[in-house]
Amino acid sequence: MDADVIIVGAGPTGLMLAGELCLAGVRPVVLERQPQIRDIPKAGGLSGQILELLRYRGELERFEAASTAPRPAPGRFPWGGMHVDLTRLTDPPMQALPLPQPQLERVLEEHARELGAQIRRGQEVVGLSQDDATVTADVRGADGSDRVTARYLVGCDGASSRVRDMAGIPFPGITYPEVQRLALVTVPEPVTMLENGDIDVAGVGRISFGSHEPERGEFALGSTNPELMGLYTSEEESAEYDDDEPMTVTELRDSIRRVLDVDLPLGEPIRLTRFTFHARHVERYRDGRILLAGDAAHLFPAPGTALTVGLLDTVNLAWKLAADVHGWAPAGLLDTYHDERHFAGARTMLHAQAQVALRRGYDPAAEALRELFQELLVDEQPLRRIGALMAGSDIRYPLPGHDRHALIGTFAPDLALHTDRGATSVAELMHGARPILLELADRLDLRETARDWEHRIDIHTAEADHRPADAFLIRPDAHIAWAATIDEPTDTAALTLREALSDWFGTRPKATAPVIDRPS
Ligand SMILES: Cc1cc2nc3c(=O)[nH]c(=O)nc-3n(C[C@H](O)[C@H](O)[C@H](O)COP(=O)(O)OP(=O)(O)OC[C@H]3O[C@@H](n4cnc5c(N)ncnc54)[C@H](O)[C@@H]3O)c2cc1C
Repeated sequence: MDADVIIVGAGPTGLMLAGELCLAGVRPVVLERQPQIRDIPKAGGLSGQILELLRYRGELERFEAASTAPRPAPGRFPWGGMHVDLTRLTDPPMQALPLPQPQLERVLEEHARELGAQIRRGQEVVGLSQDDATVTADVRGADGSDRVTARYLVGCDGASSRVRDMAGIPFPGITYPEVQRLALVTVPEPVTMLENGDIDVAGVGRISFGSHEPERGEFALGSTNPELMGLYTSEEESAEYDDDEPMTVTELRDSIRRVLDVDLPLGEPIRLTRFTFHARHVERYRDGRILLAGDAAHLFPAPGTALTVGLLDTVNLAWKLAADVHGWAPAGLLDTYHDERHFAGARTMLHAQAQVALRRGYDPAAEALRELFQELLVDEQPLRRIGALMAGSDIRYPLPGHDRHALIGTFAPDLALHTDRGATSVAELMHGARPILLELADRLDLRETARDWEHRIDIHTAEADHRPADAFLIRPDAHIAWAATIDEPTDTAALTLREALSDWFGTRPKATAPVIDRPS
């Protein structure tokens, strides 16, 4: 066995998974076909619930330090052709961190390597086979061919996933016949920037600042810097583009010519991006020992959502794979990865698709719908709800016993805690990515029940200023697996805790049973 888990692809998803697996005490090897991180301008940063998760891991500062710009105050986010103005809320559910994707990948790679992950670049996976106990990847690299064998393999190899194809997992959905191009270029000689933001183009005339809707699509001109032109086109196009192939200046110029019927001179490119919109979602995230995560499993037709969903896939998956590798995973634990993350993907698809309907309508009825939405999004409740949808913080996994307590299945709230050893918080207790029993009401009965699992979970006793439950069982992915209601009698609280511990962390371990290794 060359590793416990093979990860195909060192994009954000594969690198995050590598770090999470190391935290859970297993040995991943990442196989990446590119010899180095490529400077393709894709995502401009992280947003939503993944930022909370990174804070719970104690790693958010590392990402903030790598950020290219100050963390903006939660503001106006594009949504369905409109803007959702979260500045109206005192505690907005959606946050963003500017961090261009190449920098993000560098930070994730550095972190994964520090934790002990092996990352092999220039290694393309070209074949796969699996049996009852192992999975083998055929790899092609500059030095020839190789075979790598492990207990599991996770395809984090992006939208055109070869792993998905080789595992025979269909990727149903649609590709919208629409391409958006966004660019920032310097102002070339024949163009004069006017004070009001319009431009005067020699031999063409004046083009006004703002949006234009010519017959062939949309064009927009805008910039806050007088030395740079911000350009945008949107066209109905059915050509398939590879997101890993960067847009060129020629491609942008041709698009502007088609949409605006103008040969617009362009200066040096500062940023060139192209967005295509797909709504695709695998029906199963697992085929035996092969699993999928990130863009390999889902593509959403709305900007700003993909990274957070992909990275959270890995947080859900890593500890479950580790439980299996360590030999104590309860039956069905690994299948809950599909159940929970397909559920989360479907929830994201819901609002991404709703945005398509809002954004792509150009008739008066669609305009009326947008206007109505914009009106509704002034009120706090719908604004809060859409903000939580965008952030992914409203995801509540349908876990067993979820009707016992409203927080079961949710991301654990970051309660301020007081312990014998001083002040702490739920976020701080999750730094090691260990499962915890957090007991908040001096419930000896619950602590004693959990004692039999203390090799696998950490038991913490604390007081909270605000106590939503007598105790929580929190999984390594920071989701609440079980909770005791306030003053819940022992006969139900201890009984259901025992069931939850068995369901998630295996039958009562013997003293000699293997434990979750702590990372050194
Ligand atoms: C222009 C643009 C803007 C975007 N903006 C945002 C945004 O603002 N917010 C957001 O959340 N998302 C955004 N996205 C989407 C985001 O970039 C993707 O969701 C993200 O890259 C997915 O990460 P991933 O690791 O799953 O896949 P990828 O980033 O595609 O990584 C897959 C990796 O696998 C490797 N690989 C593939 N096949 C093999 C093989 N056979 N063997 C070995 N290695 C292989 C690839 O080389 C690659 O490194 C944007 C995308 C584009 C194109």
